[in-house]
This record gives sequence, structure tokens and C-alpha cells, in this order.
Amino acid sequence: MKNVGFIGWRGLVGSVLMQRMIEENDFTNIQPVFFSSTQYGQPAPLVNSYQNKLHNSKDLSILKELDIIVTCQGGDYTQEIYPKLRKIGWHGYWIDAASSLRMNNDTIIILDPINKSLIQQGLNKGIKTFVGGNCTVSLMLMALGGLFAHNLVEWVSVATYQAASGGGARHIRELLVQMVQLCDTIAQPLHNPVFSILEIERRFTELTRSGIIMKNNFGVPLVGSLIPWIDKQLESGQSREEWKGQAETNKILNTKKLIPIDGLCVRIGALRCHSQAFTLKLRKNISLAEIEILLDNHNEWVSIIPNDRELSMQELTPSAVTGTLKIPIGRLRKLNIGSEYLSAFTVGDQLLWGAAEPLRRMLHQLLN
Ligand code: NAP
Repeated sequence: MKNVGFIGWRGLVGSVLMQRMIEENDFTNIQPVFFSSTQYGQPAPLVNSYQNKLHNSKDLSILKELDIIVTCQGGDYTQEIYPKLRKIGWHGYWIDAASSLRMNNDTIIILDPINKSLIQQGLNKGIKTFVGGNCTVSLMLMALGGLFAHNLVEWVSVATYQAASGGGARHIRELLVQMVQLCDTIAQPLHNPVFSILEIERRFTELTRSGIIMKNNFGVPLVGSLIPWIDKQLESGQSREEWKGQAETNKILNTKKLIPIDGLCVRIGALRCHSQAFTLKLRKNISLAEIEILLDNHNEWVSIIPNDRELSMQELTPSAVTGTLKIPIGRLRKLNIGSEYLSAFTVGDQLLWGAAEPLRRMLHQLLN
């Protein structure tokens, strides 16, 4: 049995990974070793009827004995520990949720329903470092995989509607605290007919501008609002999140000719589902019916939601998709601009296909 180290398993992505591994009985085939940077010495999770103590996630002497390391701890940890471990001659497999190593030449970005053969070729060539993709990129590829696989996409313009969870547990908590603060401010007037709706709205707006509302993590209120910037600012004028769209997609697809992808990434008040609206330029004019067949047949998680008002409202929303591996895609129609221009809208749980699931499946592929 392989010794597999888990780092960052207590965090948001890590706990979803643990949940999925338990559901799929993945622990039966491995000898898990759990780490923490803050809780070491305390009991590790009970797995395979066996419970050890948590090890220090920076203890190289224990890490170097592992066959495989799965980390969801974050970029700072990766940047500190990964080079040290390789330097002392560790040749094990490193599976990572953080973005730090994604664009390295000796790293493969993993999303096996899209690039399983590339991953296998990498393994055959001796690649040992596998990193999960950016959440919006992975969710886009899961939804549009059928068009990319048939080389039908000339370019993509995207507008994202990204959930609070993309920032980690503290961000979800902050959004919920903002909701509670809002509730405390308007609950009474809302139930008192003396107050006009404009007065209630004024109190709400006053709260969001007051400085009282908790915003340590987002920097500005998200409840009742949105944030049109995610991640760092780049010289190109893009946010780093927007930059990842083209860079990571082309790396995952291993394209010979670059597919241009760009757009605007926006944070909204959903908890853990990202939504994305696409305008695609197709390489040729194919019928909507053919497009739907290609998309639907690409993988077992994607499903076509007919471009119908009621079905879109019921099935193409964060509320409908949260906590599932489903990748619905809808609002498919040819645009007035021309018959090669297609619109599409998709929703996906960014902690599952957007983060934990590709890591879990990579571990599975390694063990098999
Ligand atoms: P997170 O929730 O902030 O957890 C990271 C670490 O914080 C934990 O492993 C834990 O490490 C520590 N921690 C401190 N207090 C904690 C508490 N009360 N409960 C749980 N953990 C606590 O980070 P994350 O959102 O999972 O992200 C981890 C990595 O995945 C990042 O590199 C991120 O960029 C990447 N990623 C995230 C997403 C996403 O949707 N959030 C998607 C794709 C990739 P110790 O045990 O060492 O204390």
C-alpha cells in the first residue's frame, strides 16, 4: 500500500476532498498520513479503523518517506516546502490544489475528463507533479469539453459570476456575517408596515457604506452588491483570475495554436457555485442540435438544459447545483451577430469539479 500524505485536509478544499474520498471508499487502498501546520500532535482523523497523531506539515524527515503527497494547504506552503523536498532528493508524486506550480514545464494541470491522455503521457515520461486547475477554467472545460475536443472553438469571451468560497472558508464566513448584519438592520422595519420600502432600502445602503459591515477579507461589502475584480492586478489590465482563463485552458488542452480566451471575472454573493456566461466564436457554422449532442456526449457530468425560461430558472442556478458534481449548460443559442456565434451559460460547484475532484481522481489514476 502506498503511503499518502494529506496536507491542508482541514481547509475548505481539503474537507471536500476528504468527504469525497470517504464517499468513494478511496482510503481502503492507501496508508494515509495526516499533517497540519497548527494542530500537530493532536489526533488525526479515524480512517481504516486506525487513528494516528497529526504530523507537522513542515517536517521534511516524515514528508520524504511518503510515496504521494496531496496538498490543499495553499501557495505559500507549496512555495516553501516543495523545492526543499525535491532538493533533498524526494522523488514522490506531488498533487496540489494551489496555483504556484501550475505553469511550470514539469507540471501537468489535471482535469482527467479533458486531458486524461496528456496526464498518462506525463506519467509515462516520469512527470511527478500534478496540479489542479483554476476553478472557473476547470468548470468551463467540463461544460464546453465537447466543442474543444472537436476543435470547434475559435475564441471565447467569458463573464463570470463567482462564489464567495473561491477565497476560502473565511470569505464564506464573512459573506454570511454580512447577511446577518443586514438582517439585524432591516428585519424590524421590514415587518412594520409603517416603513416604506425606500426607507428600508436607505437603511440597507447606509449599512453597506457605514464601515460597520464586516469586510476584512473582501475589502468591500459583497452582500447586496458585487465585486468586479478577483485576485491581483496585472500590467495588461486583466485581473490574475482573467489571465488564467487563456493560459491554463491552453495548457490543459495542450493546444498547438493558441485559443484566445478573455473576459471579466466578477465575485457575487453565491456561496460555492461559480456561474459563467460565454460568447463563443465557432470555427464553422454547425447546427444547434449538433452542438448539443457534442456537448452532452463529452462526459458523464455535463447535461444540456434546453433554452427554456422555466427549465433555466429551475436547473441552471447555484441553488440547484451546489453540493453536486453536475455541470449543467444552457442558454445555448446562435447570436444575432452571426451563425458562428454561440451563447452559453453554465454553473458548477467550484469546490468539487473546481477544486477537490480532479485531485481525488489524480490520486486514483496514480494508484491504478
Ligand atoms: P482554507 O480553507 O483557508 O484552508 C487552508 C488551511 O488553513 C487549512 O488546511 C488549515 O491548515 C488552516 N486553518 C486554519 N484555521 C482553520 C480552521 N478553523 N478550519 C480549517 N482550517 C484551518 O483554504 P482553501 O480555500 O481550502 O484553499 C486551499 C488551496 O486550494 C489554496 O491554494 C487555494 O488557492 C486552492 N484552491 C482553492 C479553491 C477554493 O475554492 N477555495 C479552489 C481551487 C484551488 P492547518 O491544519 O495547517 O492549520
